[in-house]
Amino acid sequence: MDPTISTDQRTYAVIGAGPSGLAAARNLQRAGIPWSGYELAQGVGGLWDIDGPRSTVYESAHLISSKRTTEFAEFPMSEDVADYPSHRELLAYFRAFADTYDLTSGFRFGAEVVAAAPHPDGGWTVTVEQDGRRTEHRHAGVLVANGTLSEPSVPDLAGKFDGEVLHTSAYKSPTIFAGKRVLIIGAGNSGCDIAVDAVHHAASVDLSVRRGYYFVPKYLFGKPADTLNQGRPLPPRIKQAVDTRVLRMFTGDPTRFGFPKPDYRIYESHPIVNTLVLHHLGHGDLRVRPDVERLDGDGVAFRDGTRSPYDLVVLATGYHLHYPFLDPALLRWRGRGSAPDLYLNIFTQADPDLFVLGMIEASGIGWQGRYEQAELVASYLRARRDAPDAARALEERVAGPRPDLSGGYRYLGLERMSYYVNKDAYRSAVRAEIEGLS
Ligand SMILES: Cc1cc2nc3c(=O)[nH]c(=O)nc-3n(C[C@H](O)[C@H](O)[C@H](O)COP(=O)(O)OP(=O)(O)OC[C@H]3O[C@@H](n4cnc5c(N)ncnc54)[C@H](O)[C@@H]3O)c2cc1C
Repeated sequence: MDPTISTDQRTYAVIGAGPSGLAAARNLQRAGIPWSGYELAQGVGGLWDIDGPRSTVYESAHLISSKRTTEFAEFPMSEDVADYPSHRELLAYFRAFADTYDLTSGFRFGAEVVAAAPHPDGGWTVTVEQDGRRTEHRHAGVLVANGTLSEPSVPDLAGKFDGEVLHTSAYKSPTIFAGKRVLIIGAGNSGCDIAVDAVHHAASVDLSVRRGYYFVPKYLFGKPADTLNQGRPLPPRIKQAVDTRVLRMFTGDPTRFGFPKPDYRIYESHPIVNTLVLHHLGHGDLRVRPDVERLDGDGVAFRDGTRSPYDLVVLATGYHLHYPFLDPALLRWRGRGSAPDLYLNIFTQADPDLFVLGMIEASGIGWQGRYEQAELVASYLRARRDAPDAARALEERVAGPRPDLSGGYRYLGLERMSYYVNKDAYRSAVRAEIEGLS
């Protein structure tokens, strides 16, 4: 270990320069709180930089939510940019954001945080590996923004497969499908995008699903679907009834194409924003298969007793939350261990100077929702100096029961849903805290 220890112990460390880390840096800057950032990749942009070591975007990746519901409010995307920009345009957007607010120079790049721990004399020690050297840095605290969609969740499938197996985290280009019989396991947003990529190259493409899904088109009535019905949220039952009817009109009944009927209501799980999948099913380019029973040599056996041969199996089975540089006890992982138990998915009970950003899954939360998380952390740190009573009141809430952030929706008990929030309920809770601190 190199003994170098940076001495400015008033600075907060920001881990990651993706949308959440940039939002953290920007809000600390706005609040006049010194910060210093560490980013494993060679530049800003997070997973939107396809060359980043933890990036999970692929060549065909575009925004799933539209630009106006996703962008940072203080930095709107230009009119020239498409409604659903590609990862390349998004990387350019984040670079422009970081340069405009002079954030880029505050990060060390190619710098991986390998440990972050409270120091016995107060503050935090952050251990960083860069160019094969480890250095320790003292900081006032840590804002963790290392992303939620990089650590693959790989199911333990029975049996053995003789062909290739690939998790979506490693998928970049559809050329890998050329001439192959492909099975994609899981029909989340990445699974559906990749199935659509594959139909243009593969010999055949099957999509194995466990449950039914709701497919939302990217455009409704000629407008990006997520820009409709913004503003005052409808009560859940009414929104579910109205949107189910609208979807039936636009996309019909996915069971016609072989999908199981969903055994839950719309918005109780993350909706799939993709109708190309239905288009290709309708053209016979793609087939829906049931859940996998076991891998079986040169093929896969399904739960309905059928079996098919494949060359390549793509696991579109999602991601785990992953904070390998932190002692898990600091995060109080919940019962099943799938998500930390944090107040507003941000504040830990263990340490008032440890914050997690970006640990939210929600339909339509956008980068502005992540920006507001960072704004809340910066407001809290400033209040500790300028409005200590308000800061203490927040700390009491951090130690108390968790507010209901479901917006009245009953989410499915899946791993991914363990940190799911309703965007309206969540953003109003965060905004109420920001107002209480100012
Ligand atoms: C295909 C795809 C489509 C998506 N579409 C949308 C969409 O339409 N709308 C939307 O809102 N979201 C979408 N997302 C979700 C996406 O995660 C967010 O948009 C956003 O990137 C989250 O930002 P983040 O900063 O929290 O995490 P990330 O973007 O993952 O950034 C985390 C950063 O932390 C760095 N890092 C990780 N570990 C360390 C370490 N130990 N030390 C230093 N640095 C580290 C990484 O290198 C990375 O740069 C999509 C994701 C994917 C994969």
